[in-house]
Amino acid sequence: MDDPPLIDETDPDEVFALLADDTRVAILQALWETEGEGATFSELREAVGMRDSGQFNYHLDKLVGRFVGKTADGYELTQAGRQINGAIHAGAYTMETTIEPFPFDVPCPTCGGDRTLSYGDDLVRVDCEDCPAHAQFGVPPSVVVDCDRDDLPEVAGRYLLTTYQRLTVGFCLFCDGPVRPSVTPFEETITEVPEDVPEEVATRLSEVPNVHYDCTRCGVEVTGGLRLSLLYHPAVVCFHHDRGVDVFDRSVWALAGIHIDRQRIRSREPFRASVTFAEAGDELTLTVDEDLEVVDLDVGLDVEGDADTVES
Ligand SMILES: [Zn+2]
Ligand SMILES: [Zn+2]
Repeated sequence: MDDPPLIDETDPDEVFALLADDTRVAILQALWETEGEGATFSELREAVGMRDSGQFNYHLDKLVGRFVGKTADGYELTQAGRQINGAIHAGAYTMETTIEPFPFDVPCPTCGGDRTLSYGDDLVRVDCEDCPAHAQFGVPPSVVVDCDRDDLPEVAGRYLLTTYQRLTVGFCLFCDGPVRPSVTPFEETITEVPEDVPEEVATRLSEVPNVHYDCTRCGVEVTGGLRLSLLYHPAVVCFHHDRGVDVFDRSVWALAGIHIDRQRIRSREPFRASVTFAEAGDELTLTVDEDLEVVDLDVGLDVEGDADTVES
């Protein structure tokens, strides 16, 4: 299939060069401030505070087409212009926030060890102190900057839900291109199992399924666990709802990660992996194939040993 003509028609270097100027960024921000109303040439020049009309026109002209649209009354932001402003407000290009590692009260789902949570380079990172299992995911500074350290796990967890929502409906987190999911054994994801992994954990890891989302446009690959990847499945939402629980109110941290007891590979040929959700003593088990298609659903009522229920 050919690309839609809007995409790829300009060299990315040229696009970014268009923005490498304070006046042009100020024009985009001034138009953003009009809250969709747009502005005339002179209103815009006044808002940006540039006297030289010829000089101002030169910069405005550079933005027209891609970031700024011309209307009967003046100028307004295009969708691309709004996205640039959104990224500026998210702090993606402007803010730097770092939070040093601090104790995180949800134990490692792989080995049960203590963990720490930290933030830097626009990534939340959770590390286990006893095994190499770790998780990291992108969270923009705007999400983190006004939040108390104590609230960070919950806020970051909720942001992680939005990430999975996007992936689940098929969009790349970075370029908005289409993503294709696949499920493989965990051992194929990591280049090699580090030596300091306890043997029992290493053996069980080989039975753990991992989900990959490959972007067919930009080539980025995002890896995650089976439970969060299936959280938006109607059967999962419904199973919890029927037991009086909004699954999206549950702590994401209780669902995230490599829970070696709750998700495993059932067969290799054909490939089948299953994951279990538990609530109020009942269990829902979903079985997927290598394309993350659910091929089997099983509800077990009043199953003993309900280790999965978490306090909300
Ligand atoms: Zn661990
Ligand atoms: Zn992409």
